[in-house]
Amino acid sequence: MTSAIPAYLSQVLERYRTEDGGANADYIPALAQVDSQQLALALVTTEGDIYTAGDDQALFTIQSMSKPFAYGAVLEQLGPEQVANYVGLEPSGEAFNHLSLDEATHLPKNPMINAGALAIHQLIVSPKASSAERVEAVRSFFSALAGRQLSVDYHVYASELETAHRNMAIAHMLKNFGVIEADPYNVVTGYTAQCSLLVTVKDIATMAATLASGGVQPVTGQRLLSPANARMILSVMAASGMYDAAGSWFTDVGIPAKSGVSGGILGAVPGQAGLAVFSPRLDKHGHSVRGVKIASRLAADLNFHVLAPRPVGCGPADIEDQARQLLEQEA
Ligand code: GLN
Repeated sequence: MTSAIPAYLSQVLERYRTEDGGANADYIPALAQVDSQQLALALVTTEGDIYTAGDDQALFTIQSMSKPFAYGAVLEQLGPEQVANYVGLEPSGEAFNHLSLDEATHLPKNPMINAGALAIHQLIVSPKASSAERVEAVRSFFSALAGRQLSVDYHVYASELETAHRNMAIAHMLKNFGVIEADPYNVVTGYTAQCSLLVTVKDIATMAATLASGGVQPVTGQRLLSPANARMILSVMAASGMYDAAGSWFTDVGIPAKSGVSGGILGAVPGQAGLAVFSPRLDKHGHSVRGVKIASRLAADLNFHVLAPRPVGCGPADIEDQARQLLEQEA
């Protein structure tokens, strides 16, 4: 039997195609030039089935959707206790590029905002590594997550660096408080290259499906993150992935997610699927306008909200069974 999923995904795209709210990011001049009509959607299950609709060949820069995976690379490298010395776990309630640190700890509030992502980026390989070594480590890890070799768009990279005064200011603030050891300029260039990796919706949905499956890339079968680290990334995404719109997003859509200013949004439905939407026009938070609407629609139609009642087989009787088993193990 042929799957109904591709036709369903196309139907959802068509429903929102004419929505024309928002505007391309323009603080990165190259992103202002991107065709804002583009629209694509992908869903990859934790069993490795891939479904796409719309402009699924379109390449776009990963931008802030890189943050959960860079965080993952560093969690794998150092472990959560060490990483906690550099970045917190609390939602900031601020815009992604806000210039502030936690008042008590002088650490970035979380790894999803730029301050946290810069602190994480400098830990990749080691603070003493060159920018090129860090970028190659990120590129290689993200390629394993996507299941194909990714490359940096140096046009978008150069364009962002020309106007990266704000990220430079954040990096200097981090250096001032001793959060980063590395040279602030190198951290910004490496982070900007990380954000400039080119992806399709299929790549992003596959990367998200790896989180949803607890760290196993569902197509290649390779374990890339420990189950504990995958869950940690999803938790941080749930609390902070959508920045100052994290609360309304989680209430409505109810899945851990991350957006990027290129117009992509990725979401992970634990145990089920990863999804990705791409549409360049953004709202005031930097989230794709059509992307948010489409994700909300999918979540409602497909019962994705993670706080909805658990399906049959995970009811009160299972608590009884589990408690009994644990008691018996102890005895
Ligand atoms: N590279 C972008 C920046 O640092 C990423 C921001 C985003 O996607 N929200 O500003």
